[in-house]
Amino acid sequence: MNDTAVLNHWINGASAAGDSTRTAPVYNPATGAVAKQVRLASAADVGTAVAAAHAAFPAWRDTSQAKRQTVMYNFRELLNSRKNELADILTAEHGKVTSDARGEIARGLEVVEFALGMPHLSKGEFSENVSTGVDVYTLRQPLGVVGIISPFNFPAMVPMWFYPIAIAAGNAVVLKPSEKDPSAANWMAELFHEAGLPDGIFNVVHGDKEAVDALLVHPDVESISFVGSTPIAKYIYETASSHGKRVQALGGAKNHMLVLPDADLDLTADAAVNAGFGSAGERCMAISVILAVEPVADELIAKITERMKGLKIGDGMRGTDMGPLITEAHRDKVASYIDLATEDGADVVVDGRGVEVDGEASGFWLGPTLFDRVSTDSKVYQDEIFGPVLSIIRVASYEEGLEIINRGRYGNGTAIFTNDGGAGRRFQHEVQVGMVGINVPIPVPVAYHSFGGWKDSSFGDAKAYGPNAISFFTREKAVTSRWLDPSHGGINLGFPENH
Ligand code: NAD
Repeated sequence: MNDTAVLNHWINGASAAGDSTRTAPVYNPATGAVAKQVRLASAADVGTAVAAAHAAFPAWRDTSQAKRQTVMYNFRELLNSRKNELADILTAEHGKVTSDARGEIARGLEVVEFALGMPHLSKGEFSENVSTGVDVYTLRQPLGVVGIISPFNFPAMVPMWFYPIAIAAGNAVVLKPSEKDPSAANWMAELFHEAGLPDGIFNVVHGDKEAVDALLVHPDVESISFVGSTPIAKYIYETASSHGKRVQALGGAKNHMLVLPDADLDLTADAAVNAGFGSAGERCMAISVILAVEPVADELIAKITERMKGLKIGDGMRGTDMGPLITEAHRDKVASYIDLATEDGADVVVDGRGVEVDGEASGFWLGPTLFDRVSTDSKVYQDEIFGPVLSIIRVASYEEGLEIINRGRYGNGTAIFTNDGGAGRRFQHEVQVGMVGINVPIPVPVAYHSFGGWKDSSFGDAKAYGPNAISFFTREKAVTSRWLDPSHGGINLGFPENH
């Protein structure tokens, strides 16, 4: 790709330049070079995409479940056979290493497979003879045009948390992916086109705040599914819901791992390194704080440090363990926490600046970083850093660790490491967090359980994928029916009672 290439929108089954002349650079974070430009839609461009979706919706809604499932099945087969192409796009624009990119797609594919069960999942209920000769049943019908706004850190998986289910249920989608790594969205939309999806059912509009704002208030958009940082999630939730839309807005995180003295410290150190530094810490389910119940801290830190030394940092295409950060500005921001940690009195056990990399020096690198004796008052603890930075807090007891987690602003994920089943069970009951791991550091539920956090990690009451998504992307209608029977004639102005 040269720097004159421009990524278009995908509207009504075709590449579309739109009216706006604004663009943004898309980088290869492993080299620091601009790989292409992406278009930034105007409100009018968003209007064009919504109009295409709105026009295509009635025919798709009325298409039989069997035919819709054939398209979904074709899409699943195409995606599975060509997933390595998509993985390469993810590595080139996000920077995550190839194995991680493949894992991201595998988790997205799970949701596509879950959506293949839509005829069963969206079945209504039937009650016969609720009154003499009267039946009541429920139907689930699609909403119409649904908007999806996704973050940079999972350019394939996060859109896949929503669009397979939305489309299988009969909706039409307008996806606004992150402008930082936008190409995966077009690739997936083109693949769906190849799978036989009618034009206008899956549209991709690239852009920034202008495009997002246009989606949030558009009268023909029925719902918004958002994933991103907490301040934006809150804004999205408030704006879209005040415009009458159904909204689910998943926000940021700061996930704790509580390590009890009886834990297997080798397993725990492996898990901490994988969950702290995988995808360069740019995961909403990354572990960023370890609460080490004494006396384990010194031994655990030694084991983590030893593992950190073995990590290969570099271009994700070269078989490394950890890639670059998404942009230079984000890398610099994450690195600035290393000075802040020192100022706030923490010990910098491993400083990731100046790390040796297998890649070009101009890439957006920061090596794995470890802080010890971090205070809960410090910015390092309170901010979502979203980089390869692990903080250790030493605590005296399970209760002290639990209290820190439950006092936290976020409630996305957490994990306990212990060999005590009773402690694990107590933790799952007492912790105020939406997704809990017991000896599992990144407890992302499988596709048939819904994904979502508590507190400032999620706004709105619907989680992503799984059973929650079936109700989010459909409206339930209750029908009460009676077929004419002369015995039910007569006038009665009272509210109907059942007999
Ligand atoms: P972000 O909030 O900057 O961007 C998310 C989306 O919002 C993008 O499409 C972006 O274009 C748009 N956006 C950005 N600023 C906007 C504004 N002012 N008005 C309207 N729209 C705006 O997030 P990001 O940096 O792309 O992604 C990282 C964040 O996402 C982290 O906070 C991470 O925790 C969070 N995240 C959460 C989950 C979850 O499931 N809870 C999953 C993945 C990522």
